[in-house]
Order: sequence, then C-alpha cells, then structure tokens
Amino acid sequence: MENSQLARDGGTPVRTEPLPSVMNASGRRFGDDEVKAVERVLRSGMLSATWGTEVPALELEFASLLGAGHAVACSSGTAALHLAVAAVNPDPGDEIITTPISDMGTVFPILMQNAVPVFADVDPITGNLTPETVAAAITPRTKAVIVVHLFGKPAAVRELRALCDQHGILLIEDCAQAYLAPVGDTYVGRIGHIGCFSLQQTKHISAGDGGLAVTDDAQRARRMRLFADKGWPRDTDERTYLFLALNYRMTELVASVTRAQLNRLRGVVQDRRTAALRATAGIADLAGVTAPPDGQDHVYWQYPLIISEAAGDMREWAAALTAEGIPANGGYLTSPLYAAPAVRERITYGQSGFPLRDVSYPVGLCPNAEELIDRKLLVLAWNENYTESDVDDIVAAIRKVHNALSRKAS
Ligand SMILES: *Cc1c(COP(=O)(O)O)cnc(C)c1O
Repeated sequence: MENSQLARDGGTPVRTEPLPSVMNASGRRFGDDEVKAVERVLRSGMLSATWGTEVPALELEFASLLGAGHAVACSSGTAALHLAVAAVNPDPGDEIITTPISDMGTVFPILMQNAVPVFADVDPITGNLTPETVAAAITPRTKAVIVVHLFGKPAAVRELRALCDQHGILLIEDCAQAYLAPVGDTYVGRIGHIGCFSLQQTKHISAGDGGLAVTDDAQRARRMRLFADKGWPRDTDERTYLFLALNYRMTELVASVTRAQLNRLRGVVQDRRTAALRATAGIADLAGVTAPPDGQDHVYWQYPLIISEAAGDMREWAAALTAEGIPANGGYLTSPLYAAPAVRERITYGQSGFPLRDVSYPVGLCPNAEELIDRKLLVLAWNENYTESDVDDIVAAIRKVHNALSRKAS
C-alpha cells in the first residue's frame, strides 16, 4: 500500500490542510444575520435584558423550537445547570446522581448548592448513564439525577424519567452536546423535568458563552429566572430579594446572536450527521474499532470511537491520527470527574471540605467510565462544515492508523 508509513514515523501525512474547526471561522456559521443582530442591539443603546427585547424573544423562540412551556436564558451552560439544581432546591447533604464523564459544568453546580454528587457508572460504548446504574445509586437522600447526552447521543431518558418518577425525584437533562437529538417524536431536554443547553464556542451553535434551560413547569421556570437575577421578582411589584441567588443574566448581544444561530441549528445538525454517517460507513469493516452507534438519533458534537485492545493502544492512536492531520483526543478527559482535585481532595469551601467531608470517590468507583477514559475512548473533533473529501481524509487516516497499529493475528 502506498503511503502506509505513519506520519508519526516520518511518512507523508494524509492531510496537511487543517480541517474546519470550531476554533475559527472555518468551522462556525456566523454570517450577515449575526452581524446585523449585533448591530441592531448596539444601535438600540440597550444591551441589558432587564429592559431589552432580545432575551425575551429568544426565550420564546427556543421554547417553541423544543415545544417547551418555558425557556430561561442565562450566561452559560454551567449557569443553566446551576439554575436547574437551584430549582431542585436540595438541603445541604442531599444527593444528586450524575455521570463521571462530562464537562465539570455538570457537577460543580451540585456542589455550589451544597449537595453531594453521587457518580453512577456509564454504558461501556456510549459513555452515558444507564437506568440500571442510576437505580443502583438511589438512596433516601437522592433528590435528582443529572443525565448527560454525551457527544450528542441520547441517553435512555424515557426509562430514566420513569425511574425518577417512581422515586419522586427530578430528572435534569444536560443537553449541552445534544441540541435537537430526537427521542421518539420529541427532543432531548423534553423528557426530564428540566433541560439545559450551552452556547459556548464549541457547541453546535454559539454566541461565545450563554445558556438556556427549558421546562414545562411554570413554578420551576420562575425559580430559575429568579436564581439568575438575585432573587429579584420582576413579575410582581415587590422590591425585594426572595431567596439566595446570583446574577446569571444573559445580555442582549448574546441573545441577538443566538437568535440568528437558532435559524441555522437544523442545518448544523443535519450536516454533522451526514458527515458522520459517511465516516461510519467508511470504517465499518475495521476489526476492533467501534463507530458511534446511531439509531438516527446521534447529533455528533464530537465523533467518539471505541478502540479495543486488539486494535492497538488508544493514546498511540490519538497521537498517530493527529500526526496524520486529523485532530484526535484520547479519553476525552484525563480522569473521571470524581478524580479531579476539587472533588477528590474536597477543595470546596475554605478548609471545611464541605459537603464532601464524609464522602470518598475511590479509584475503581465507576469501572466502565475509567476504562473508557484510560483505554478505549478516542474522540475526533467533528464539524458541520466537513466536506465529503474532508470525511474521506478522516476515513483514510483511520484506516492507515488501524493498519499500522492493530495487532494482527499472526
Ligand atoms: C459545555 C458543557 C457544559 C458547560 O457549558 P458552559 O457553557 O461551558 O458552561 C456542561 N455540560 C456539558 C455536557 C458540556 O458539554
């Protein structure tokens, strides 16, 4: 085979031109509509949502897109999750079950509200929480579950909702990586009691930073709105602070850009899916490499592969692919979230260790998650602007690395 020597070993890389990337304009769809939106807000002289029109309009548009009763805008995905936990309103020491594989924005809001994150293990292929692992983690102190749709693949949310209902606890969906991922005739974010979204630079759509939370429950929506606005009730004429809360307000500039981005969202999801399905078809025959399972419901924030031992060392794969011009990341995280210093070493409130004083998160707590991160999960950056020829390069590089690194039966 020509060009079979890995770029890592001095061979010719499959690709030298960078792929479209979320880190610059090549992989983002910001156009005239976004420019006009920013200009409209600036020329209006009103940049704050407290008196502006863009944030209320965005909230209506996003709620309508998802068929939700209410949407509450805020300053980040982490903030949206904090609003959701604040709506759960746990007592100190109450437990919230979540996943060890996610952005820390899933977990820190639990600790900020003085509740204890309880980590349940994940499915060995998708990396998502499962109804079985969550059921095993429920205790009398459990108040909620935060499920993440990792890389854009929906978790088993209908089953999780049934489980939560059975125990009288709330289900929060972290949809930061899974805009418009279908669940039957609806979308992720609509099965749980609250769904949370992020507008950070690398998500399907972005306004730099921003967040949205959706719910059908008017009281929970109000509580979230108040939590993003220092507890100050703008819907009544009381002038007071109703409960302990922060300022997580979205600005008019962010809302105006997000409204333009919302019009592009379906196209972004469709184009990411088309590219991903082409890649999956191109590597289907490779032994020891598992492409992301797609029940027509994956929205591909990233493209995660499972590399079995027979296919070679996952971190070697990541370095070899990157050298071929295809950015790849081994493990997604360097360790499960419970092994990060803030959590494992209880670096929280002063020297108190609160609320984790009596909690420990030993190595081996979630074996599937640890195996994915340490040995199996290989994550390729994905993008709506990949062309067929970009995808063909990605496939060629994966095949080349497979050929060089997999342990052939001798
Ligand atoms: C990005 C992300 C977050 C945090 O969103 P920010 O807007 O960066 O605060 C939370 N959860 C998941 C799964 C994410 O991907």
